[in-house]
Amino acid sequence: MKTLKEKILSEGEVHEGNILKVDSFLNHQIDIPFLKEIGREFYSRYKEDNINKILTIESSGIAIGSMVAQEFGCPLVFAKKSITKNIAGDIYLTPVESFTHGSTYGVIVSKCFLGKDDRVLIVDDFLANGNALNGLISIVKESGAELVGCGTVIEKGFQGGGDQLRKKGVRVESLAIIESMNSESGEIVFRD
Ligand code: 5GP
Repeated sequence: MKTLKEKILSEGEVHEGNILKVDSFLNHQIDIPFLKEIGREFYSRYKEDNINKILTIESSGIAIGSMVAQEFGCPLVFAKKSITKNIAGDIYLTPVESFTHGSTYGVIVSKCFLGKDDRVLIVDDFLANGNALNGLISIVKESGAELVGCGTVIEKGFQGGGDQLRKKGVRVESLAIIESMNSESGEIVFRD
């Protein structure tokens, strides 16, 4: 997605530890018209696939997931990162290792919002090692729902998570794939 690559080049900051910060439009301040374009782009890629549920993970996934769900005209379910009092009844729970925090946390979805009648598109902001997506995929499998595919806004291709999923046969659509980035020079190189 050309406009996304341009935005990453003009507004993204490469930090040490393979972290790309895009706080000006995705992870802190949110560029709503631009996110709407992102929603439309995911819709154009998956519109033939009879998707009836979008699944993401809090917190950055929620804004993206909202725009995608709006395009598909279906609900968005966001996985929670901690058990709260307002999550009642049976839950799907899976451990996920956090890339940005270096710790493991439990990811939770209430069983009443995901089941065998659902055809699911998983969306998230970043794809790095693939831990977040793998956690969400295992929840989809446990629920008996059909996983149609995954959509990430920015994939850091050099970390390998996306290609590992593709090798396993999972459809992964990333709107920008970064082949390499350098925190000293700030250089970002995209795949294709
Ligand atoms: P993974 O689980 O694929 O290793 O990492 C993906 C998750 O970690 C995403 O949900 C995202 O929130 C976070 N993440 C991974 N890499 C980056 C990055 O370079 N920048 C930001 N802002 N978040 C990242």
